[in-house]
Amino acid sequence: GEGLPRPEQTRVMVVANQKGGVGKTTTTVNLAASLALHGARVLVIDLDPQGNASTALGIDHHAEVPSIYDVLVESKPLSDVVQPVPDVEGLFCAPATIDLAGAEIELVSLVARESRLQRAIQAYEQPLDYILIDCPPSLGLLTVNALVAGAEVLIPIQCEYYALEGLGQLLRNVDLVRGHLNPALHVSTILLTMYDGRTRLASQVAEEVRSHFGDEVLRTSIPRSVRISEAPSYGQTVLTYDPGSSGSLSYLEAAREIALRGVGIHYEAHPAHVLS
Ligand code: ADP
Ligand code: MG
Repeated sequence: GEGLPRPEQTRVMVVANQKGGVGKTTTTVNLAASLALHGARVLVIDLDPQGNASTALGIDHHAEVPSIYDVLVESKPLSDVVQPVPDVEGLFCAPATIDLAGAEIELVSLVARESRLQRAIQAYEQPLDYILIDCPPSLGLLTVNALVAGAEVLIPIQCEYYALEGLGQLLRNVDLVRGHLNPALHVSTILLTMYDGRTRLASQVAEEVRSHFGDEVLRTSIPRSVRISEAPSYGQTVLTYDPGSSGSLSYLEAAREIALRGVGIHYEAHPAHVLS
């Protein structure tokens, strides 16, 4: 549905967690599609050389496609690489191609190597409500570029053993970038993903994450859902692949919660998506 409040300024959210397989890409594309379906204008920036976010959004990203590599390394304007996402109005993607794998090294010798993405975003003139940046599973220069470009960090946490392990390193990097390059940077949002309410483990992890992070943790969590994992192979988000599924509804609800929190409106938790 429409009618969610729009942020006064573009919210740039960095989806990061250097652990692989925790749901960064899944969260980026499905949250972005949800926000767009709620009426927002949203850009996904694919910063992972694997290009999984581009694939999941049905965006062509073979080696010759103008991509975020050209923006970061060749200083091409972001507007030259942004493509509209088919089937979701208001949703756009700056794709990643495989040459982005080399950017981590190539950036080292470039001027302002940590702030190239920030500059590209600042020069982008199309109006946007949200930019979601899908980070690779590492803390190298690509992720640093994302942390310099955004004000908000969104950390997806998989409800599994060792969920919090390694997060200290990410949080220290956030502190370092805040101290030296981007004073506005903060962890605004923690999202519990792949939650299986039937297991004791999931609720224990959720409790641990909540006691560690407090209010940053969204009330809404994302259930483990086959439909969510199937959607990317059709070049779709779960929002168009199976709009009525629990995965789809939970991402729509997470988007609603994020939008309301962003403008300081109290969020009444939706009972269906709150952990028991
Ligand atoms: P990351 O980007 O952090 O590496 P992904 O988003 O690619 O993680 O997710 C890792 C795997 O888990 C993918 O195969 C994805 O389809 C699957 N997955 C993610 N979220 C869910 C979910 N809520 N339910 C079921 N499978 C999921
Ligand atoms: Mg990923």
